[in-house]
Amino acid sequence: MWLSEIMLQQTTVAAVEPYFRVFIARWPTLADLAQADLNDVLTAWAGLGYYARVHSLHKCAQAIAVTGTFPTDEKALRRLPGIGAYTAAAIAAIAFGRRAVAVDGNIERVITRLCAVTEPLPTARPRIHTLADALMPESRCGDFIQAAMDLGAMLCTPRQPVCMLCPLQPVCAAHRQGLAGSLPARANKSPRPIRQGLAFVAVRKDGAIFLRRRPQKGLLGGMMEIPSTPWRPESWMLKEAVSLAAPLSLFWQLLPGMVRHVFTHFQLDLKVAIAHAGPDPAAHGIWIAPEQMGEQALPSVMRKVLAHALRYGY
Ligand code: SF4
Repeated sequence: MWLSEIMLQQTTVAAVEPYFRVFIARWPTLADLAQADLNDVLTAWAGLGYYARVHSLHKCAQAIAVTGTFPTDEKALRRLPGIGAYTAAAIAAIAFGRRAVAVDGNIERVITRLCAVTEPLPTARPRIHTLADALMPESRCGDFIQAAMDLGAMLCTPRQPVCMLCPLQPVCAAHRQGLAGSLPARANKSPRPIRQGLAFVAVRKDGAIFLRRRPQKGLLGGMMEIPSTPWRPESWMLKEAVSLAAPLSLFWQLLPGMVRHVFTHFQLDLKVAIAHAGPDPAAHGIWIAPEQMGEQALPSVMRKVLAHALRYGY
């Protein structure tokens, strides 16, 4: 339950399912996960995104392994790494039968419609939480939460709610007012800023590719990367990028096109340069054979860079 809640933060069930299976098979108990090497856990998480979660997950497993018990109430759960208000409430209610108000995206939508909350998100959130608290029963809180989640996922869907089949239809204010499809309202989002970078794909004679590990703190912390320039608003010219950030002194050539990746708070456009290296060039990083790339903690954006280089026949 804890593992699935952490994995499902900002991520769909379909994306999480294969990762969840791998984690459970590889580290079946909390103690197993606590003892696992962080790099192995990062590698198993590669591709799932939001990598700060995996650091917190590992720290959380270690913290619980020390005390020997999993906390059961919201307050104690909130003190654990990576467990925020929603996750603490969901675990307390669903795993331990406590009365706790957990409001995920599905429940938020159901309550917004049920009570015809026309105020836009995110400003409406405190009110939605108050309404959820008022609706929450004293017992079987976990069942209530899971039923509301399922209703939101299967009937009260974002675009076309299936009100005809919904058991809440007789009491649903949005349905009565003809507002179901237009709620929840959302405040206009400002467009995502664009950052630009240039990635360096170095290929050794035997086909191995140069990777290095990112710093533990910050975006994609501790993951492997294709070295690149800093990411900034302005575009990079090859000459400037090579002089400032090339990981090896080689003959770099710019490939056509670019790689685009959307992070939560910005869009990244990466140009890709390629160079061929001698048998054993000195550099701070590792050389990985293409068939071993799957064993590396390479985030999706870096896999896209590799695929781009491959497309142009490195
Ligand atoms: S009646 Fe329609 S809008 Fe209201 S809760 Fe059910 S599916 Fe959602």
